[in-house]
Amino acid sequence: MRRLLLKNLVSRPVTEAAPKPDDAALAELAADVNHAARRKLGRSLSIREVDAGSCNACELEIHALNNAFYDLERFGLRFVASPRHADVLLVTGPVTKNMREALERTYAATPDPKWVVAVGDCAADGGIFAGSYAVEGSVSKVVPVDLYIRGCPPDPVTLLKGLLALLEGA
Ligand code: SF4
Repeated sequence: MRRLLLKNLVSRPVTEAAPKPDDAALAELAADVNHAARRKLGRSLSIREVDAGSCNACELEIHALNNAFYDLERFGLRFVASPRHADVLLVTGPVTKNMREALERTYAATPDPKWVVAVGDCAADGGIFAGSYAVEGSVSKVVPVDLYIRGCPPDPVTLLKGLLALLEGA
């Protein structure tokens, strides 16, 4: 035991170092999303995340937008708890049969104008769950989709780029 402790004290961590943050580029991208939202809506963007059946890795990346590193709220973008306060529904996962009605009701409860963004390969075409007895399939089979952000999972910067493309194309 003592030998193991000593070995752990002198050996280097086996985990890989995190990628170097590019703060300036990130700040510029998030600020662009905020400006685009203010041009389109006259205010900042409110986002409701809907997990329609994902493996949760897409959620980890979406949650990262709120962590101390990305800290999306400093740019005025915020996640809201109710679809009634949302402009954008970020939907992840293939839509499972159990989540179909919940997604339909969430969509109906979101006021116009609203956008639906399908996040991840599963949301786009069912991904690795395509053909499963438990899923309906892609998000577009249940609600209209305005933008797809591909990836398994897409990282936070890709998510921000997607939101910017959505607002600029709207
Ligand atoms: S796209 Fe990948 S990470 Fe996202 S829910 Fe599907 S399997 Fe999980």
